Amino acid sequence: MRLVSLTVLFALTATAGACVRVNVGSPRGTSAAITAGDLQTRLTAFAHDTTMGREAGTIWNERATDYVAAQFQRLGLQPAGENGTYFQTVPNIRPRDTTMIRGLARNVIAVIPGSDPALRGEYVSITAHNDHLGFTHRPVDHDSLRAFNAVIRPLGADSPPHAPSADETARIRVILDSLRKVHTPRLDSIYNGADDDGSGTVALIELAEAFMKGGAKPRRSILFVSHTGEEKGLRGSAWYTDHATVPIDSIVAEIDVDMIGRGSVSDIKAGGPTYLEVVGSRRLSKEFGDWFEAVNAKEPTPFVFDYEYDVPGHPEQYYCRADHYSYARYGIPSISLSRGAHRDYHQLTDEPQYIDYPDYARLTQMVFDGALYVANADHRPRLDAPKPTDPHVPCKQ
Ligand SMILES: [Zn+2]
Repeated sequence: MRLVSLTVLFALTATAGACVRVNVGSPRGTSAAITAGDLQTRLTAFAHDTTMGREAGTIWNERATDYVAAQFQRLGLQPAGENGTYFQTVPNIRPRDTTMIRGLARNVIAVIPGSDPALRGEYVSITAHNDHLGFTHRPVDHDSLRAFNAVIRPLGADSPPHAPSADETARIRVILDSLRKVHTPRLDSIYNGADDDGSGTVALIELAEAFMKGGAKPRRSILFVSHTGEEKGLRGSAWYTDHATVPIDSIVAEIDVDMIGRGSVSDIKAGGPTYLEVVGSRRLSKEFGDWFEAVNAKEPTPFVFDYEYDVPGHPEQYYCRADHYSYARYGIPSISLSRGAHRDYHQLTDEPQYIDYPDYARLTQMVFDGALYVANADHRPRLDAPKPTDPHVPCKQ
């Protein structure tokens, strides 16, 4: 494969005031095939400490969107944002903290035109979010936090914290002692968001590469949308669907990937290589949900679709907490795929070295096959009920 010299520079302003520039823009040796190695190469760059946690509204999220756009451009995708660019600026997104350097909050939008002139004006959308939580001025010891959360907060920020009992303290100690054999204490202050949603963002780029360099010629167009501001309340996807850069009704389906890099048995009790949380896929179109199940069933090692979090009224509210909802509210059949929460969810410890790359690659392949199936179907997924009349009513799990 040809090495391309297009690069993106990330500047890191460290607390000491030093300025370091790191080139993360030219993944070497990525291939047309969706592979664990390609995903690891890209995610290690995208979720690197120098990207400073990519908080929407800061310069670091702006640079993360530069990176995504540069990758789309390098792969030959067409820009589908505003004014002939890959970007759509989302207004009024501010950093949490006035010490952060402000930057543009942008969605990144690109398209692979369909091969069938009659269907090219219809889009299958694949989405993920490029932002995360930034960094903190109060660093903590990385391994102490991991050991604590392994016992006390197995779902990270989704587990309510409590003071450890004597027994729990002893278990934390055992875990920490084993971690200390590998590393001396090291302070951590950056929310890398490797899984959330570095995994989805990098999957988008890997999928784009697979479509552009592989032999698949989807009949409908494939629309890639990298949303900003998800962590601030689905802001980027809400803005995109309210101000879509293609006619909103021409989006025939949407596939959102958010936190698709974990899910092994060490992360989730019910986890394992086939663990997959599926939300939303049958709510508007049973046919769309059936198609995805049929595609998955044909994979060499199919995932087991777990619809627990899709149940109406479920207290975790996943149906309303992922970007797919912004599409569903416009009557677009949409599916939210995730390998689940874990001890590092919204923690300083969500880093690339804890990702389960082989299963992440299998899931990315399944998304490719699902998107291709919908793109080539002889009709768009049929809605079972009339479209929602008002996309701005509050979401109901
Ligand atoms: Zn998140």
